[in-house]
Amino acid sequence: MRHITAFTVLLSFGLLIGSTPHLSARGGQQPAPQRTPQPTGDGKLNIIAFGAHPDDCDQRAGGVAAKYAALGHRVRFVAVTNGDAGHQTEGGGALAARRRAEAKEAGRRIGVDYITLDNHDGELLPTLKPREDVIRQIRLWNADLVLAPRPNDYHPDHRYTGVLVQDAAYMVVVPNIAPDTPALRRNPVFMYFQDNFQRPNPFRPDVAVSIDDVIEKKLEMMDAHVSQFYEWLPWVAGRLEEVPKGAAERKEWLRKTRAGQPSAAVRETLAKWYGPEKAKDVRHAEAFEICEYGTRPDEALIRKLFPFFHK
Ligand SMILES: [Zn+2]
Repeated sequence: MRHITAFTVLLSFGLLIGSTPHLSARGGQQPAPQRTPQPTGDGKLNIIAFGAHPDDCDQRAGGVAAKYAALGHRVRFVAVTNGDAGHQTEGGGALAARRRAEAKEAGRRIGVDYITLDNHDGELLPTLKPREDVIRQIRLWNADLVLAPRPNDYHPDHRYTGVLVQDAAYMVVVPNIAPDTPALRRNPVFMYFQDNFQRPNPFRPDVAVSIDDVIEKKLEMMDAHVSQFYEWLPWVAGRLEEVPKGAAERKEWLRKTRAGQPSAAVRETLAKWYGPEKAKDVRHAEAFEICEYGTRPDEALIRKLFPFFHK
């Protein structure tokens, strides 16, 4: 069963991203990752975010992604697993295909590229193969900024996605690692998504961005993940009966349950970047913590990577 499922999913992956399989350095067949439309030289930023599941990047960075896209910068979201386990009535290849299509649609709605790697949901481990895939993705996107979860999250797939990206944070510049994909000459900046975990240390919001102007777009994006936000997540929380049936009511419910307010710490960071007056009025924000690996940005580089702060 597992073999048939994996094969079917691999096949649909190749078809969906419109790529032809190529031979990797190790001789195995795998789909060729897409290249950026214009990799360098046009003054636009290349942002890549890694989530464990199709819908993770959306929740943590859907707002900033919409802002980047509106300014013509390039954003790719990567789901490191295919989401083929997290559902109460569906699973396997059919669920993976559904989740991949939902992710594509979510990306389309805000103007970002969204791809799904073919690791099984709930089984991700920080091993060499997924690490090399993460390295390739960062290189192919010619990333200026890489976003990922912290490695102390409750969900093992989230944790190991954090570890995989940390493990890639230096290797992206080492030519002999994953040599089928040219190494970057410049290490990107790596940052973590916001979370509420306290141990071993709480999230530190180094950068906070108001997403008030794109909150509708973010909700539109999340609304595309029907199998997540209207089926699996409410079911696992024991709240499935709360989900409205109508499309408009559902979106309203999403706003009420998911839009969120900035924490006190995030509010302080907003004041730093926007000035206290403007920060007071912010209703929705996304925040990021600088990772110690990769390039450590100074304030000038942060302002370049987040071209959103107008005092
Ligand atoms: Zn997840």
